Amino acid sequence: MEKTNIIKRIVDAGLKKTKYRVNIIDLLEKADNLLSANDIHSILLKENTKVDLSTVYRTLDKLTKNNIINRIELEKENKSLYEYNRKKHHHFMICKNCNKIETIYECPLSEYEEKIQADSNFLITGHKIEFYGYCKDCQKKLKIN
Ligand SMILES: [Zn+2]
Ligand SMILES: [Zn+2]
Repeated sequence: MEKTNIIKRIVDAGLKKTKYRVNIIDLLEKADNLLSANDIHSILLKENTKVDLSTVYRTLDKLTKNNIINRIELEKENKSLYEYNRKKHHHFMICKNCNKIETIYECPLSEYEEKIQADSNFLITGHKIEFYGYCKDCQKKLKIN
């Protein structure tokens, strides 16, 4: 993504454009996988962006709260991973053995949301679901099934 588009996304969210915000969004947008704060920190250092881990955490927090990036909690590892928010609704399947994360873009829940909303008068603006289990490779390795 063009740097100008990244900056637009930051400014549109009402945030100030800082070097760290731009760099972190940029690298998450280019990443093929979800990244942890530590991953992001070491990539920034490799790119000669001097930054401490706590600043990375603070920046990730701010960008998550403003929906520019998404945070995914890995319950087993007690760690979080981040992805760029492409504004395309999706869910994750997380392997409990190797932590591989697969993305599913199919979601059957909009009808259910409408029903809950009608029943409860609660205005639903979204949902988050993560599926846990074992990926194909781990099923073989662990001899499950
Ligand atoms: Zn696995
Ligand atoms: Zn969904």
